[in-house]
Amino acid sequence: MKNLIKNLLIFFIIFFTIAVVFSYFGNAGKKSERVGTEVLISQINNEKVAGIVVEGSKLTVSLKDGTKEIVKKETGESLSEMLKNFGVGADKMSAINIEVKEGEGLNFWLANILPFLIPFLLIGVFIYFMMRSVQGANSKAMMFGQSQVKQFGKDEKEKISFKDVAGAKEAKEELKEVVEFLKHPKKFLELGARIPRGALLLGSPGTGKTLLARAVAGEANVPFFHISGSEFVEMFVGVGASRVRDLFKQAKKAAPCIVFIDEIDAVGRRRGSGLGGSHDEREQTLNQILVEMDGFDPSVNVIVLAATNRPDVLDPALLRPGRFDRQIVLDEPDIADREAILKVHAKKKPLAKEVSLRRVAERTPGFSGADLANLLNEAAILAARRNKKIIEMDELLESIEKVMLGPERRSRVLTEKEKKITAYHEAGHAVVAHFLPNTDPVHKISIIARGRAGGYTLKLPIGDKHMHTKVEFTEEIAVLLAGYVTEKEIFGDITTGATSDLRRATKLARRLITDFGMSETLGPRTYGEKEEMIFLGREIHEQRDYSEKVAEQIDKEINNFIENAVHQAKGIVSKERDVLEKVVKVLMKQETLEKEEFEKIVGAKPKE
Ligand code: ADP
Ligand code: MG
Ligand code: ZN
Repeated sequence: MKNLIKNLLIFFIIFFTIAVVFSYFGNAGKKSERVGTEVLISQINNEKVAGIVVEGSKLTVSLKDGTKEIVKKETGESLSEMLKNFGVGADKMSAINIEVKEGEGLNFWLANILPFLIPFLLIGVFIYFMMRSVQGANSKAMMFGQSQVKQFGKDEKEKISFKDVAGAKEAKEELKEVVEFLKHPKKFLELGARIPRGALLLGSPGTGKTLLARAVAGEANVPFFHISGSEFVEMFVGVGASRVRDLFKQAKKAAPCIVFIDEIDAVGRRRGSGLGGSHDEREQTLNQILVEMDGFDPSVNVIVLAATNRPDVLDPALLRPGRFDRQIVLDEPDIADREAILKVHAKKKPLAKEVSLRRVAERTPGFSGADLANLLNEAAILAARRNKKIIEMDELLESIEKVMLGPERRSRVLTEKEKKITAYHEAGHAVVAHFLPNTDPVHKISIIARGRAGGYTLKLPIGDKHMHTKVEFTEEIAVLLAGYVTEKEIFGDITTGATSDLRRATKLARRLITDFGMSETLGPRTYGEKEEMIFLGREIHEQRDYSEKVAEQIDKEINNFIENAVHQAKGIVSKERDVLEKVVKVLMKQETLEKEEFEKIVGAKPKE
């Protein structure tokens, strides 16, 4: 649309230029005097006229004394007719040298034809441009079937090796094998081994799946075709399948090489589980991937890597031997890995001497590789904004919170009353967390808004945890509800500040019952089949595999958990009221409270 307007504007500018030029030309020959018809008649009658040149309706009269005049006559009427009408005698007429100059000269053409031509020209050009833009779309539609594959590995600068991927030892070990296959396929083929077709990288977002796949290509020094699963899914049915065909055609030409399908869950979802039309397309695409993977000549050395963070929704056919039979799990990095990742990303950043990446790693459980890379970047930005030449620990620590909770929003001014409520709310979380034996220690309390939270209480585990107990969960629910309980205890009223706490507590309670089998009454089983379906654009995550009666029991049990947690939190809040008040007082004064100061007020954390 914008283009169209631009084109139109250009036309009009051209049009006006022509008009101006044209009017200039029209006036150009007008050196001679302009006179009326009656003057001409009298001049003829007085025999002063030597000759007349007729050009359309324009008469150029040359007088005997050498001067020239211009006379306009009516169009359609010939000169002789006109003269006759004015009663000029034939003898007088024959004495004049009349020359007719019709349809000659550029001026004539411009003057007569251009006014008619310009609208047609404009329309013509307009149609031409319309056609062209339509054709552009058309030819793009023709390109649809080709995959928009990106090829890395040609450029040395882009090359990534295993060195650039920190941690993930097991995954790298497994992938070294893939590199071997790509580098020395003979070694394996001679022993009759079948070269694996594909490896599936599993892991939550940001754990380095894409990075690792690129590292494999870099290590093996082969081309790397990269396409995202969502790029297969287009508006038109059949496009995905044709893209798959095209992708593999290109890959086979470039063999040995790696085809990397990122976010394969976009196409590789379990077939036949949906009700919408888009599933036909996905199924076709998936089928085509399966066909291509089966159809390789075993000696063609193309290895398909795929990545997903949703292995649970993948079609089982993808996981069959001969397809993605290697599954490589990328875990969230543990403390040592986090330190290693930080080191990799700190390479190009000037860090102050006293910076301890180990301490940063300690404070960032649950951070993915991407989060850690982001953290260092934020720290660098912060340091630059403070006009520092090196990044110090301050910036790193502040960035942890920024990445975790979003940017600080100091501009959100709280009224004194709101500030007080927030202080009690957060102090409630902190105090309850502190006095419960199985919760993580409180690291920081703040009543400065951050991201979407009004204030926050940061708890961090001492080490990396891989398992959780029931009592940890129930205490966690109590901590979540502590803000609500404190507000109610102190002010006798509640605010909207506890909304997300309540939601999280309820969700956790439900999971305890339906996923972890931690409810006494409902027993050690799971409830609800986690299956993804898309119906009318809405995702339905859970399928009930239990009766209406059980649903009611689950609801009741959730309420039980919540009630117990409220009771537990309430007990601590009333018992430790003095401590709570002290924490609130400090919070009101300085807005944030670090671990050390907090522990000075509340004492050491009780052990079980
Ligand atoms: P995924 O594909 O698993 O979602 P990416 O591979 O795109 O994650 O990782 C995102 C970014 O996080 C990478 O570009 C890299 O900067 C960083 N990163 C993740 N894991 C690691 C790691 N193990 N070592 C170094 N950097 C990592
Ligand atoms: Mg990725
Ligand atoms: Zn809260």
